[in-house]
Amino acid sequence: MEQKKIILTGDRPTGNLHIGHYVGSVANRLSLQEKGDFDKFYILIADTQALTDNADNVDKVKNNVIQVAIDYLSAGIDPKKVDIIIQSQVPELAEMTMYFMNLVTVARLNRNPTVKEEIKLRGLNASMPAGFLCYPISQAADILAFGSTIVPVGEDQLPMLEQTREIVRTFHSTYDCDIFPLPNALLPENKACHRLVGTDGNAKMSKSLGNCIFLKDEPEVVKQKIMNAYTDPNHIKISDPGKVEGNVVFAYLDAFCKNEHFARFLPEYANLDELKAHYRRGGLGDVKIKLFLNNILQELLAPIREKRKKLEQNVDEIYEMIFENSKKASEIAKNTLAKMKDAMGLDYYKFLKK
Ligand code: ATP
Ligand code: MG
Repeated sequence: MEQKKIILTGDRPTGNLHIGHYVGSVANRLSLQEKGDFDKFYILIADTQALTDNADNVDKVKNNVIQVAIDYLSAGIDPKKVDIIIQSQVPELAEMTMYFMNLVTVARLNRNPTVKEEIKLRGLNASMPAGFLCYPISQAADILAFGSTIVPVGEDQLPMLEQTREIVRTFHSTYDCDIFPLPNALLPENKACHRLVGTDGNAKMSKSLGNCIFLKDEPEVVKQKIMNAYTDPNHIKISDPGKVEGNVVFAYLDAFCKNEHFARFLPEYANLDELKAHYRRGGLGDVKIKLFLNNILQELLAPIREKRKKLEQNVDEIYEMIFENSKKASEIAKNTLAKMKDAMGLDYYKFLKK
């Protein structure tokens, strides 16, 4: 039987989507959607996962579900081609997680580099909820419930994919079966998009760190965030040589700038290499590169913001659509769960003497 192409990806509803999501994962989703080479395409809003470090802030998570859904649709996700679903509305995922938890050691979870980094960033340490440590397992359930084969994500998600593949292998060998395809991560082609830095220079733009440019930000806010972005603290006078590495403006230009932008917004240069060379030599001020970046981002974000304003009038319809999608997804997950239980021998119904 030919392997079906099932795409699954998602985001935590801990805030609105930012430009890191855009380049890290949304842009890839849009191009996959346009190519149309898939049997099914899910985008999962991971509210249950978001609760693993927001248990006392259910309202934040709950209210952001619709925000994230509106962000997807404004960015161009087409609900006719892609099913947006809510994790908590597919309860089978929690049951699958429970069985997978028995196949992963605590030592293995403690070694997950992304989880380690998040524990540090969020200062969790001793106060870390067990659910948070285990979220890579629940993510595996999200992926495997639908038989996903392609998972478009940013770089921080690679350890989660590795964990998922390990769970597949362990499940198959423990229960002597072969029910899950091995999923593959799909990273952006442009390496600069794998992990976009925060406006403060922090290694990752992240909703939880407050260093984001959001897709919904108003034009003045975008401009102000760019003007305040971290550059090179030793580049004080325009004539000073500047550093490109670790400079947030250049990191964003690496991710968003195309040669055509120079013709339109900064015709003195042919491409980014020339701009970088001038900055390194000295004689190029931060304001100029920031205004250039501002032009590029404003052009990208304007249509997204406009579409959002219209979608904000249709909240009920959007909720209905994602609830309906989640119900259908739940049927698929039920089927997977039944196969799992059969493979495990958890088949009590066989004791019935009918
Ligand atoms: P949180 O701070 O709540 O973890 P987040 O900003 O990290 O939020 P997630 O919902 O955890 O966002 O991530 C959703 C998807 O977006 C993942 O595929 C992740 O790899 C990608 N992503 C998130 N932040 C970035 C970034 N700064 N650069 C590239 N991709 C990113
Ligand atoms: Mg994250």
